[in-house]
Amino acid sequence: MTEPASHEETLTTTCPRDCYDSCGILVIKRAGLVTAVRGDPDHPVSRGALCGKCSTAYNREWRDPRRRLTQPLKRVRPKSRGDGSTAPHDDADFEPVSWERAIAEIAGRLESIVDSYGARSILNAHYTGTISLLAGIAPMRFFNRLGTTEVTPDTICNMAGHVALRYMYGTSLDGFDPRTAKDAACIVVWGANPHASAPHAHEHWLPEAPGKVIVVDPIRTPTAAEADIHLQPFPGSDAALAFALLSVIHRDGLIDESFVSRHVQGWEELRSVIAACDLGRLAEATGVPVRLIEKAAHLYAPGPSLLWLGQGLQRQVTGGNVMRACAMLPALTGNLCKPGAGFLYLNGNLSQRGMDEGYLSGAHLAQAAPPAVSHMDLADVLEDRRRSRALFVWNMNPLGSCPNQARLRGALERDDLLTVAVDLFPTDSTALADYVLPAASFLEFDDIVAPYFNLSLAAQNKVMEPIGEALPNLEIFRRLGRAMGFDEVEFHDTDSEILETLMSRSGLGESFETLKAKGMIWVPKDPAPQFAQRVFDTQSGRIEIASDRAAADGLPRLPQCRSDPRPAAGNLRLLSPAHAWLLNTTFGNVQKITVRLGQATILLHPSDAADRSLCEGDLALVRNRCGRLDLTVALSEDIPRGVAVAHKGRWLTQDAAYANVNALNPGSKSDMGESTSVHSVEVSVEAASR
Ligand code: SF4
Repeated sequence: MTEPASHEETLTTTCPRDCYDSCGILVIKRAGLVTAVRGDPDHPVSRGALCGKCSTAYNREWRDPRRRLTQPLKRVRPKSRGDGSTAPHDDADFEPVSWERAIAEIAGRLESIVDSYGARSILNAHYTGTISLLAGIAPMRFFNRLGTTEVTPDTICNMAGHVALRYMYGTSLDGFDPRTAKDAACIVVWGANPHASAPHAHEHWLPEAPGKVIVVDPIRTPTAAEADIHLQPFPGSDAALAFALLSVIHRDGLIDESFVSRHVQGWEELRSVIAACDLGRLAEATGVPVRLIEKAAHLYAPGPSLLWLGQGLQRQVTGGNVMRACAMLPALTGNLCKPGAGFLYLNGNLSQRGMDEGYLSGAHLAQAAPPAVSHMDLADVLEDRRRSRALFVWNMNPLGSCPNQARLRGALERDDLLTVAVDLFPTDSTALADYVLPAASFLEFDDIVAPYFNLSLAAQNKVMEPIGEALPNLEIFRRLGRAMGFDEVEFHDTDSEILETLMSRSGLGESFETLKAKGMIWVPKDPAPQFAQRVFDTQSGRIEIASDRAAADGLPRLPQCRSDPRPAAGNLRLLSPAHAWLLNTTFGNVQKITVRLGQATILLHPSDAADRSLCEGDLALVRNRCGRLDLTVALSEDIPRGVAVAHKGRWLTQDAAYANVNALNPGSKSDMGESTSVHSVEVSVEAASR
């Protein structure tokens, strides 16, 4: 039956996925029910279309009560089957319980753990399942008050880059304003693939920018294929490539000596290193021809140029050094502090947009700086009963995302480890929890989104009631806090009070209601050059290419011109980038998407495949000291010889081996920030016996 048109209403909201785009969304409702979720044609980013993955998921699984978690669940069977089975756990492991009972029991068990082992034995593992402020940050009020150990979120993704940029610029979170692309003669995208991770920036922002585009990526991604120049270095040679570019820039008189003398510390120490670089050798080490290095250097240096430093760039054993080396380019060419120039890693400085992160996270509730462990050590810590008695998992699916997958799974099977998981869906990780708490989706509560690419603030609007008994993340932790006797105002404030306080403290002259009415606002209203005030938050107040702080931390004072060794004989370097149809592990349970993903594959260069007598469609045994996987071979000339690609983010339940590519990731750390070096993993590949 067709509803009268008058029963139709259209609401706006914002996509809060861990994605550069933060699209504007239209929600169509008929007779009070959501019937469609679409891209907002009036939104400057989405321009009428969501990406395929969100368009699929938000119109199916995300609103389907049969697929969502709708009630709190309590484990009723042991986690370990005791038979070494790798089969996934199932619904029979749990029984539904009321919120009152779940909260009371969890609070009681936490109190007893705190009494016996201390709050630090409770681990808090979370990441970016949603990046909206209330659902993504405010639950930290509970953990700060409790005094738990934080599993440092960024160590799974981008911590090395943050540390490296802080050494040099004093910040990693204040990048260029993408609106300044209109003034750029050149845009370099280094180690990012907007086609997969920023689909609208790929479709609109990059092609509409008037400047030439240079993409640096070991893989000829769709972004690289469309660029004016694609530099394709062997993984691990990015620092050498940065030095090669600088050696051309120096040789050809393109160093901005005036900018450097006023704003850069360390050029005198570095100049002789750059002058001594052997361009031919660096070209050989990187695999990038000299003529392309020269062409790129001549395009970038005169500028104005933008440099987008991707997160993939620093997920290597020497990822921090790579980031420091690449980040010298804007400093030494003066591609900063003026329109159309600058670099961007993540625009994550919330205070720049008036948002009070300390208030949001309840930082003052912590009696001491919370102890921290790296995601790289999560399996170790969970295997150690002295260090871990309870684990919270929210906004992430660690069994799919973290390294040492087989060991992690074994550790999560500890029946003496209280695991509480908060999620929208039953995941690989919730399957091993003691309590599973159903979270509301972004369509079901009000919030604010502060994108990490575009400098804006956007309203996430409640457009429907939560499905079943699901609750917003913050409400779950507020209830838990109150059950534990926390009586601070942070455990009584309502969501709307927090949103209003955030907006009134912002100085932007907006309330949450006016933000809602506008959908999004730019902050600042007009684009400004990065570091327009020419102030750098370092010890010297200058850009510190030579860093005393790095030296004090036991690192080289200067970025190093180096390449990682090529893989050991017969091995391949395994890259596990994002798939365009997945976002971390989000969407790995969406049926249409799993069909589209098909079997788990390994991309090989045809010559590497031939060396191993492998053809397209063969089953390959991929292994290293950490684990093994059977993957279907796909051939591609888009990757260099010596490199293999297996995308991240598949759910373990999708594959017979109940494992994904993290089964091969031993969790080795990068040189800075205890961060992941997942793109430095080496594997052997051979024909699998069927
Ligand atoms: S995931 Fe990114 S591209 Fe897709 S709808 Fe959300 S913000 Fe847009």
